[in-house]
Amino acid sequence: FNTDRFGQHILKNPLVAQHIVDRAALKPTDTVLEVGPGTGNLTVRILEKAKKTTVVEMDPRMAAELHKRVAGTPERKKLDIVLGDFCKVDLPYFDVCISNTPYQISSPIVFKLLSHRPLPRCAILMFQREFALRLVARPGSSLWCRLSANVQLYSKVDHVMKVSRNSFRPPPQVESSVVRIVPLNPPPNVEFEEFDGMNRVLFSRRNRMVRASFEAKGVREMLEQNWRTVASQRGTVLDKGETFDDLLRKVLNEDTDYAEKRAAQMDVDDLLRLLAAFHRRGVHFA
Ligand code: SAM
Repeated sequence: FNTDRFGQHILKNPLVAQHIVDRAALKPTDTVLEVGPGTGNLTVRILEKAKKTTVVEMDPRMAAELHKRVAGTPERKKLDIVLGDFCKVDLPYFDVCISNTPYQISSPIVFKLLSHRPLPRCAILMFQREFALRLVARPGSSLWCRLSANVQLYSKVDHVMKVSRNSFRPPPQVESSVVRIVPLNPPPNVEFEEFDGMNRVLFSRRNRMVRASFEAKGVREMLEQNWRTVASQRGTVLDKGETFDDLLRKVLNEDTDYAEKRAAQMDVDDLLRLLAAFHRRGVHFA
């Protein structure tokens, strides 16, 4: 197998495979989505528990192997094999997602699941350890970053278990972890591009003061440009005497008191408050 192209590291440890499926707490009425089933070590365990399972597999040889594995079993009728790239296919309805996929598509998987409607009940996903630890990081900790904030805006994430590289064949270079993502339902009513755009500014230097992040060259100009564009689109007449620096100062020192805070210490609520303050002054990020 070309393990590089598809990231094919098959989960050979049956205890780990069973634990992953158990942690999904599947109900007999559930429809499950599995990404990258490979030879089906998770799939056969999911099929035992769920009403229906859709798998999305990109490698036709893997899909064929899985097909062979379930052929002639009563479970076959409950399985739908979609051949394609998870990042590109339209997803069917599902209650729960379970996945041990190649780590190149970790971020796309998380965000595709969180933007799917109706929202799934939960997702049990295997990731490279470092990525998993950033997903679950809390504000103020050394791993709290743009990814943590963006994902925790929409979900509760917890660490389920560490998985050693020796649980896979062939063993990957890196250690892994399983996380559980439970989307907040209903989701917060925030434009993701705006929240992410602001976080991009704040977390590019997470230990710098918020004021300095926005005053940085390039950032300041980009935001001023956006501010003027939005104003002209909306027909807002800007006060000639007010500079963009005045406006920044008002947002950071008067409307809020984040000027001297650092992104590393701000939680999702702080970030939402700051974004709302920018929006009230007509400053946008996307
Ligand atoms: N889930 C199986 C297991 O735990 O043993 C296989 C895991 S292996 C790390 C990843 C699987 O995802 C491979 O079967 C690979 O072909 C498939 N895959 C890779 N990229 C994919 C993509 N973009 N969409 C769907 N499947 C993909």
